[in-house]
Amino acid sequence: MPSDAPLLGAHCSIAGGLENALYTAHAYGCTALQMFTKNARTWAETPLSPEAAAAFDHARSETGITEIASHTPYLINLAGPDPTTRKRSNRALREELIRSSALKIPYAVLHPGSHGGAGEAEGMERITTAVNRLFSEVPDLSTRLLLETTAGQGHGIGHTFEQLAALLSEIDAAVPIGVCLDTSHIFAAGYDIRTRSDYEHTLSEFDRIIGLNRLFLIHLNDSKVEFGGRVDRHAHIGQGRIGIEAFEFIMRDERLARIPKVIETPKEKGERDWDEINLSVLRRLWKG
Ligand SMILES: [Zn+2]
Repeated sequence: MPSDAPLLGAHCSIAGGLENALYTAHAYGCTALQMFTKNARTWAETPLSPEAAAAFDHARSETGITEIASHTPYLINLAGPDPTTRKRSNRALREELIRSSALKIPYAVLHPGSHGGAGEAEGMERITTAVNRLFSEVPDLSTRLLLETTAGQGHGIGHTFEQLAALLSEIDAAVPIGVCLDTSHIFAAGYDIRTRSDYEHTLSEFDRIIGLNRLFLIHLNDSKVEFGGRVDRHAHIGQGRIGIEAFEFIMRDERLARIPKVIETPKEKGERDWDEINLSVLRRLWKG
């Protein structure tokens, strides 16, 4: 693979072992990937065995892929008003970061959470308190926690750049933290990227309010939902409401060249391999 290949990958399955995410990504010619480190739809914890960690290390050196992000379980909500869910969420996030650090995974993506009607300020304070406490209780975590931009569904926090900047400013300086930008989420949240001027405006707003130096990962997804629709539904690249041009702007943007980009587009059943299709569309855009 040429050294100037784009840092591009997909969300890959861990069925049959964590290392399979790396082998699958490699088979697609990826230089980055996202994965879960356990079943993301349950609270049950899967302790990491030394054998599983060794197999993962081996696969990393065999494939040469080091730009890896874990996605934290979907059930986690640090911002909610229910104390039981919050307690479980804090524990699940702690276990995720311990597991990701043990696997030497550089990034872990987290949806900031939903305040469930308690109000934005209260929800945001719950998030920053939980993150600060976690990193002070487990100080040797090496994985950087990335707060993902969200679509603004329901009481979800993280759909404005101002909210994300406010969260970052309340998190202790010693905490490795950053942001993951999801194209379909920001589009649904009301940040347009469809034309060159809208794209430039959105990127400069991100830089002004959050800072491009705090952007560590990009999720490349088209959107089934219209602009500003505030619902999270991913579509294949160039086949949703965002359209192909925005992805060309991103793939060819020098400011974003060193930031890994992963697709989370629908896998679909049937004969067509949609990851292959979406990745090759993006590689074509990159080549120009
Ligand atoms: Zn995403």
